[in-house]
Amino acid sequence: MVLFENQDYKRIQMPEADKKIQAYLDEHIRNIPDFPKPGIQFKDITPLLLDPESFKSIPVELVKPFQGDNIDYVAGIESRGFLYGTIMASVLGAGFITVRKPGKLPADTIRAEYELEYGTDELHMHKDAIKPGSKVLIHDDLIATGGSAKAAAELIKKLDGQVAGFSFIMELSFLNGRNKIDDFGPVKSLIAYD
Ligand code: AMP
Repeated sequence: MVLFENQDYKRIQMPEADKKIQAYLDEHIRNIPDFPKPGIQFKDITPLLLDPESFKSIPVELVKPFQGDNIDYVAGIESRGFLYGTIMASVLGAGFITVRKPGKLPADTIRAEYELEYGTDELHMHKDAIKPGSKVLIHDDLIATGGSAKAAAELIKKLDGQVAGFSFIMELSFLNGRNKIDDFGPVKSLIAYD
């Protein structure tokens, strides 16, 4: 979790994403002020998960910019990236890769570090997760600083995979996370806060 104090998190319109979906997300994503610490606005997707309709519409919207790109795998970042990520894979006819925190994956892994507010963390992927040359779409619920998404992209590259792009439900634009990852591929999100 990346923590940033005193931000207002104003919703901005995303010209590329469907307006109805943006309004739907506004209704179903809950803002929890001061969680997990004072000054942080936590964007809680649990109300979205309660609505069965979300499992139909959200994954379809998330993969729309990548339809026709022959995606082989969706890589979901632990743990909220798993929730809609597997359905995205199903919509695309692709496999699913779990990008996980240390100590979770049972077989041999590769690792990539990223910076937190204090110190570093790392993400892991199984060494045999993909075949070289595979096209991988990276997904998480939210991009903040982009550190974890960048680590996921590095893992894909280490295994000689191709990063097809990134698809997030939400983006905290004021943190400029997309600048950290847009060298790897196109970055899309359905709604943004600035
Ligand atoms: P980052 O690596 O900085 O892009 O952080 C992204 C990860 O942190 C995602 O897995 C998010 O779920 C989580 N995250 C960061 N900030 C928030 C926030 N304000 N509300 C909800 N989740 C957050």
